[in-house]
Amino acid sequence: MTSTTHDSHESDHTTTAESSNPREPQGTPVLEVSDLNVSFPSEAGSVAAVRGVSFDLYPGRTLGIVGESGSGKSVTSMSIMGLLPQYAKVTGSVKYAGEELLGKTDKEMSKIRGKGIGMIFQDPLSALTPVFDIGTQLVEAIVTHQKVTKQQAEKQAVELLDLVGISEPQKRIRAFPHEFSGGMRQRVVIAIAIANNPRVLIADEPTTALDVTIQAQILDVIKVAQRETGAATIMITHDMGVVAGIADDVLVMYAGRPVEKSDVFSVFSQPRMPYTIGLLGSTPRPDVSSDEPLTPIVGNPPILVDLQDQCQFAPRCPVAQPECLSGEPKLLPLADAPKGVSHATACIRSGEIWDQKINGERLFQVPELSKDILAGKPRDERKVTLHVADLKKEYPIMKGSLLKRKVGTFQAVKGVSFDVREGECMAIVGESGCGKTTTLLEIMDLQPQSGTVVLNGQDASTMTKRQRRAARKDIQIVFQDPMSSLNPRLTVREVIAEPLQSLGYEGDVNKRVQELMALVGLDTSQIDRFPGHFSGGQRQRIGLARALATNPSVIVLDEPVSALDVSIQAGVINLLEDLKRKLGLSYLFVAHDLSVIRHLSDRVAVMYKGEFVEVGKVDDIFDHPQHPYTKSLLSAIPIPDPQVARTQKRVKYDPDAVAAVVVEKPESN
Ligand code: SF4
Repeated sequence: MTSTTHDSHESDHTTTAESSNPREPQGTPVLEVSDLNVSFPSEAGSVAAVRGVSFDLYPGRTLGIVGESGSGKSVTSMSIMGLLPQYAKVTGSVKYAGEELLGKTDKEMSKIRGKGIGMIFQDPLSALTPVFDIGTQLVEAIVTHQKVTKQQAEKQAVELLDLVGISEPQKRIRAFPHEFSGGMRQRVVIAIAIANNPRVLIADEPTTALDVTIQAQILDVIKVAQRETGAATIMITHDMGVVAGIADDVLVMYAGRPVEKSDVFSVFSQPRMPYTIGLLGSTPRPDVSSDEPLTPIVGNPPILVDLQDQCQFAPRCPVAQPECLSGEPKLLPLADAPKGVSHATACIRSGEIWDQKINGERLFQVPELSKDILAGKPRDERKVTLHVADLKKEYPIMKGSLLKRKVGTFQAVKGVSFDVREGECMAIVGESGCGKTTTLLEIMDLQPQSGTVVLNGQDASTMTKRQRRAARKDIQIVFQDPMSSLNPRLTVREVIAEPLQSLGYEGDVNKRVQELMALVGLDTSQIDRFPGHFSGGQRQRIGLARALATNPSVIVLDEPVSALDVSIQAGVINLLEDLKRKLGLSYLFVAHDLSVIRHLSDRVAVMYKGEFVEVGKVDDIFDHPQHPYTKSLLSAIPIPDPQVARTQKRVKYDPDAVAAVVVEKPESN
């Protein structure tokens, strides 16, 4: 079972290997990690966060470490940097330029951190000191490791700020972190990380909290930084699109262990480990129109306490066999990997897996969705459930500490208009602060400051208080963070029953709660459990069941899946699609992830500074964007395909220019 060869693919192998993997690692590795294990004590027992991680990092190459929450990817990077808490138990070996790092004191490590190894963290605010201007922090980073005068360090600091794309660096150097936007702060963190020409750069989810265009810019800056310093880079991320665009090699982690390792092209085009295949199947594509549902991975990752000696993915693996439960498979090179390609997996059935199939069948079956009750009914014959016209929202700008006075007006929403029809998902996309969430809240309020909101034919401005209350049952909202939107002291039964009771539901409340739980795929035997007992995906299902309790025709989805891991997210996206088809629901949807938008929506409005700059069918907008801002936004989406990602042209939006400007992406080394 272990090493079935694929003779028929042999010629393909060679071609693929030669054409797509021209550069094998060269020279001696600058970082060698072998058999790294990290555990933490906890009340439940020892948590084995990292288990047997080994890899070599070569100069100029980028290793992408991917995995979901709790996979051990960040703990791996923290242990390389010597930043784990004292109580962490770390074994194995981490060698930087041949020198063992494990066991070094914090003082010894601080000589290597910043000089030999630079680190870019997810949250730039916590990486910068708020009380010092950025110049002081950069100069400090330089003089700590280099024998230069303060003036020389300051000159270098200005050059570094220029390199990472901060305009007017001479002036900006005296600014404080809070005066910068999130993207600019991350640029400063990158400048500090590369200030001493490190040989290794570790970026831990460096773009997770950023808007898509800023994310693309930061990834470009990291590429420039890598090119200028020649550093070897570790990119830690949960985003398959980011990995596809930046990594040369990929290490996929699951439950603290590496489960697949190869060059980026092999991992994406010919994954051989079921978990990687599941991850790719769960990831929506922003660049392809598809009516096919995503293929989620059922279940949740294990809790890393008292692990059984078995394949940890077995409970979620669609092709698990009894042998998978006797001993945890080691990460072993594939005997049938194409010539010149090093590809390893921790799966006893990898030899049988080819083209994401086993015995000619797809590993992960595409789930079947319910019949679309409105299939075949043209859009203009469908009922308009939500009509919005010339919606505006202004906020006063106040000044003065004691006596506040209005000094101006901020127009958050500047007259947007759209319709949502039954069985349709309308998305609003745009970056932070563009006004999309304000638009949602104004609609939910059913009392617009200015403009018209008509819900199922009823104009909100003419509603009495009582009518407005009754109308609210027709429009419900699901929020991003299911934990904070559900009362932790109420059981699932109570959470879902609450809106029914407040509306004076006359039927059998218990029966209805059970129906709703079944509708969203929750186990009804867990009806008396508290939200804290459930995983993130299940909690989002509880939120959805609650929203559906009043039989609304419109559901407002405010970033409904952004807090979820990709394999769990796929299940919730499918559920939303299924409910829309089965119940003919209308969705008004806001998400920053444009891939999710493309997958779930029928129509999309692109919002920029309070206005819609483009509205239309989702495929038209994604395939043929007309407005320069839309072009810029779409060109920044990371595409989970290394071939496509490497030819992707980025478009920069300049509101003053007549046409969009195409910018070349910097080549990584
Ligand atoms: S070892 Fe078995 S359970 Fe684990 S991924 Fe492979 S087939 Fe699935």
